[in-house]
Amino acid sequence: MNGLPLFFFTLPLNNHITIGILGGGQLARMSALAAHRLGVSVAILEREKHSPAGQVTAHEFLGSVDDHDVLEKFARACDTVTLENEFIDYHKLEYIESLGKPVFPSSRTIALIQDKLTQKETLAQHGIPIPLFLPVTPATLWKEIAVRLGSPVIMKSRKMGYDGYGNAVVRSQTTFDAAKKKLLSRHSGLMAEEFVPFTMELAVMVARTKKETRVYPVVQTIQKNHICNTVIAPAPIDKTTALRAAHCAVASVEAVNGFGLFGVELFLTQENELLVNEMAPRPHNSGHYTIDACVTSQFENHIRAVLGLPLGSPLMHVPAAVMVNLLGSASPKSRTANYRQSCSNENAHLHIYGKTASRPGRKMGHVTLTGASLPQLLAQAERLQKGIHL
Ligand code: ADP
Repeated sequence: MNGLPLFFFTLPLNNHITIGILGGGQLARMSALAAHRLGVSVAILEREKHSPAGQVTAHEFLGSVDDHDVLEKFARACDTVTLENEFIDYHKLEYIESLGKPVFPSSRTIALIQDKLTQKETLAQHGIPIPLFLPVTPATLWKEIAVRLGSPVIMKSRKMGYDGYGNAVVRSQTTFDAAKKKLLSRHSGLMAEEFVPFTMELAVMVARTKKETRVYPVVQTIQKNHICNTVIAPAPIDKTTALRAAHCAVASVEAVNGFGLFGVELFLTQENELLVNEMAPRPHNSGHYTIDACVTSQFENHIRAVLGLPLGSPLMHVPAAVMVNLLGSASPKSRTANYRQSCSNENAHLHIYGKTASRPGRKMGHVTLTGASLPQLLAQAERLQKGIHL
């Protein structure tokens, strides 16, 4: 070692690339792991120490995006920046861009997505099929909403909604008043949407760079208490419907001029109509199965898209996969007991996010089962979900 010339050591430093991720949760962690495989270093900006991503990244900036100094230090340490949720005020992203650090997806794209009303208006302007919707202002009457959208409707917070927090079903003046009170405590803007009696919920991941667009298989998502519980890949739908869903997903990403990785959620109705519910400008829970079932995971394509590299194939290398989320349990088991439970299934891929505190309902990990028989995978997934307590 001592005998090697100095340039040998400086070369890797010159080639050093750092991706910054705003946020330190499980999506940032899995993106960071994919980045590390490519030899790319990762910096995160996260409020709390020992976050899921903080545990696997060398460069941890602790603080809030609202703290100008921390945000600037973080941005200057990165070559390019991405995010793991759409809740960061797009002005903060504009600031990062003003420092000459590209952000993927861009501040303009995030501005169109982070407000659910603006998002729906943008999708509507581009002719993408979506549920009927209305802005709800303090002057909007329940009667007007019911006349235009029917009853029931789903009222939504325009910003900061996730896992159903921020949504309420409204079917009367009383539930309208209650929903307004509940949702306005989260955010000041509201909207209402027709209630779609869907037969299935679908999701499509799309990776897009200036040069190419890659579309993952259409999957079925099943929610429990408004939280994604099960993902079935590929979705049990016919080829034409899958192609239409993929087309809607790509058109949605193009509508917001999106570059990076996107999850697009859709409703399938009894009449075989497809309606886009919403889009996420980041890795998505419905794409976790791609780590174990696709040629290139959503996380690797996220990193590749952010770096402007050629994208990898999104195709599945197994006939089918089922992913179930592992939520925090009221009575967690020991790690060893959980490992034993999962590892006794040779086709099970267990992912634990390393969250330091568990609480019921919190996403603590997931398990993906790969194989050929969907009924068998579903039965196995259900058994594991019941048996693993994180
Ligand atoms: P979040 O952003 O909190 O995930 P979503 O708007 O995606 O909220 O809604 C969460 C879930 O609520 C959806 O997956 C779906 O099951 C249901 N939902 C949302 N909008 C509608 C709608 N217009 N009609 C029927 N169900 C809906």
